[in-house]
Amino acid sequence: MLILFSLKKWLNLTLVNYSTMNFEKIYLQNPDFPNRYISPEKLFSYLQSNHSDYIQEIGTSYLEKPIYKLSIGTGTINVLAWSQMHGNESNATHAMLDLLVTLDKAPELKEELFNKIKLDFIFMLNPDGSEKWTRLNAVEIDLNRDFHNESSKEIKFLKKAVASTKYDYALNLHEQRTIFTTDGVHPATLSFLAPSENYERTLTENRKKCMAVIAEVYNHLKELIPNQIGRYSDEFYPTSTGDNFIKAGMPTILFEGGHFIDDYTRKGTRKYYTIALYYALKAISELNSDTAGWETYLEIPENQETHYDIVYRNVKLNTDHECILDVAVQYREIKEEGKDEISFVPFVMEVGDVRRRKGWLEIDCTGKKFISATKYPKLDAVVDFKIED
Ligand SMILES: [Zn+2]
Repeated sequence: MLILFSLKKWLNLTLVNYSTMNFEKIYLQNPDFPNRYISPEKLFSYLQSNHSDYIQEIGTSYLEKPIYKLSIGTGTINVLAWSQMHGNESNATHAMLDLLVTLDKAPELKEELFNKIKLDFIFMLNPDGSEKWTRLNAVEIDLNRDFHNESSKEIKFLKKAVASTKYDYALNLHEQRTIFTTDGVHPATLSFLAPSENYERTLTENRKKCMAVIAEVYNHLKELIPNQIGRYSDEFYPTSTGDNFIKAGMPTILFEGGHFIDDYTRKGTRKYYTIALYYALKAISELNSDTAGWETYLEIPENQETHYDIVYRNVKLNTDHECILDVAVQYREIKEEGKDEISFVPFVMEVGDVRRRKGWLEIDCTGKKFISATKYPKLDAVVDFKIED
């Protein structure tokens, strides 16, 4: 046992031959953060223990939790990124943690990247929402729609960070719901956007800079997860963060981590999110504000809203008249007190003819019994029925 343990430790410490290695081949998940849920306290103590020389508190949340920025690199290309502006989107926080442990094992890759760029990464811009696993902050403000009002404390610190340096690029890191596919079949595991600067969606130089980076990421990732990369809608949102930052002159790229088949804790998404983050930074370091190759962005399929988590087909209700219909169900992610992982609670979203949508899980209920205290499944309520043979 001891020998096995030592061998494993030795293997983990042994450095690989980087010249033949791709980042995706050496990807490591940070073992201190195995769950989709990240406790802010745990993250803060990890950053203090492991990166104390590189972190700075840039402000505090409504509930006085710290907001940390980690700065890494000595290059001349300045990049700003932020995670968990929406508290219930931990993929990007994981991606940065995974990127750091992976690059620690590949010092040549790390040096090559961070000699060219300087990355300021704001972890958990919304720590109060992250604690409760909610999109909104403690006073129920969506930080991503608060650009002009500045009614949240947190958005002011982000804007202050942006004003502190002339950033060449920004990465606005999010997650999207399971409803999106790239083609009606494959989940949009990762979607990207070069946001619009106006209602006309003009192809500006700054948008092309973003598109060129996204195109490079797409070129790498389409080999690894074919048909699972999408393009987010470029409709102009006048109150949202990315649209306003790019309008003000900072090329801002949107990342959206999405569904991965049979993997609601998004470990697969987390892995490819990390790989996408690495290739985005690498592309930034090589392009250095050039727009070469931006046209490839237009080849990326646009996100389509086509799926529910579960669709029960041909459900025969306990009504006096014959009533056969479909029931569509979507999980809600809930953080229960005292648990260190989120729970998935099924809610009824639609009852009737759901032919135009598919379910990640399709259950044919033909000839089966609908067992419920009510005659109809109640909309927007927890699933309280059973289907039996
Ligand atoms: Zn978001």
